[in-house]
Amino acid sequence: MTQQLETTVLIGRKRDGGSLSADEVAAFVAGYLDERVSDAQMSAWLMAGVIHGFSDEEATALTEAYLRSGDTVDLSTLRGPTVDKHSTGGVGDTTTLVVAPLLASLGYQLAKLSGRGLGHTGGTLDKLEAIPGFRVDLSPEQLRSQVEEIGVAVAAATADLVPADKRIYALRDLTGTVSSEALIAASVMSKKLAGGAQHIVLDVKVGDGAFMADVEAGRALAERCVAIGRAHGRATSALVTEMSQPLGPAIGNALEVRAAVEVLAGGGSQRLRTLSLALSAEALVLTGEAPDAAAAKVAQALDGGAALERFASWVERQGGDPRVAQDPASVLPAAPVVRSWTAAPGTVRSIATARLGQLAGRLGAGRVREGAPLDPRVGLICNLQVGQMTGDGPSVEVHAATERDADAVVAELAGLFEITTEQVTPPALLLDRIPHQTGA
Ligand code: URA
Repeated sequence: MTQQLETTVLIGRKRDGGSLSADEVAAFVAGYLDERVSDAQMSAWLMAGVIHGFSDEEATALTEAYLRSGDTVDLSTLRGPTVDKHSTGGVGDTTTLVVAPLLASLGYQLAKLSGRGLGHTGGTLDKLEAIPGFRVDLSPEQLRSQVEEIGVAVAAATADLVPADKRIYALRDLTGTVSSEALIAASVMSKKLAGGAQHIVLDVKVGDGAFMADVEAGRALAERCVAIGRAHGRATSALVTEMSQPLGPAIGNALEVRAAVEVLAGGGSQRLRTLSLALSAEALVLTGEAPDAAAAKVAQALDGGAALERFASWVERQGGDPRVAQDPASVLPAAPVVRSWTAAPGTVRSIATARLGQLAGRLGAGRVREGAPLDPRVGLICNLQVGQMTGDGPSVEVHAATERDADAVVAELAGLFEITTEQVTPPALLLDRIPHQTGA
């Protein structure tokens, strides 16, 4: 009874624009985990916070409560500099598949615990599992020994890693409460802190295909995350990057692996390459490298073939077919139906990016709920970028399991691209950088 009263008081205070103390946030989260606070009550509190905003004290307390809710990984015995990289979620964003082997080829160590795609954004585990044989169920010992040997391993985060975030994130996804700077910061940073890496590089996405709508909101999220990392003694920096169009052309699991391999082989999407290099260089800067030297080193690792070679070793080590690095088309599963669609003549003014991600999901590339199966073969190749003239060739390729699925998606495509006769300046990809700050 008393507990019930307390809970409703805390929700009411948030509803009226007030704040909870750190202890109250901790008690509220703990109550949710042991079922004294119901889903309905947590949802009401989250929604009130999304509307009124959370104080710094609440955001910090939430991060701590998440972190305390489960296990943490100890990477202190690894020899090289440990790095983790995280994107707040976008469409056609397959940078991890480029950045992880690239950094490993330079002596960095990435023991990455990743999630699966939810909503319109893709997940690294789903992409890797599109490679036949690739296994993500590594034990902590396997993860560690693989990282010691080849510098990179990606495994599914266990249920014991930040369980509070797992439960609350699923609830947020269902209740329209994802897009909050404080909630995203707590969710992202608790997972990164629990993952154990000493150096954390964040890619905060802004635009239609991201959770943060504009650069100001993205910058605020990036600053908050960098401050949390610093408060926990981790060197953390963030790039704020544009997500008002897909990052690379491919949206869908096997298609995105192919796009990553193309970049690792020195070609492929320029935007995917640029961002992968920028994020990789950021890791080198965090470990003391000067920015110019960092940029030169990461470009050399990519163009000299070391990153691609390391990708092949990584795939092989996790049970996948390493020939994917040389000839992805012969290894990756392909959709039985491929349909082309061409936009009207003109210049692309805007792309409904989140909707494109949702359409790829509808084809089977994403999951509508946790645990649902997906189809690694399907998705979209979007050959248009903002500011680009539409041409005679296909603007979008639809890779589908059935003719019917392809028809349904093709019917929607015209509504997703705003085409104009005027000139359009392409938006910048790298919008801002929040560096790690040392000192008091
Ligand atoms: N990614 C996360 O890990 N958490 C969020 O809340 C949003 C994006």
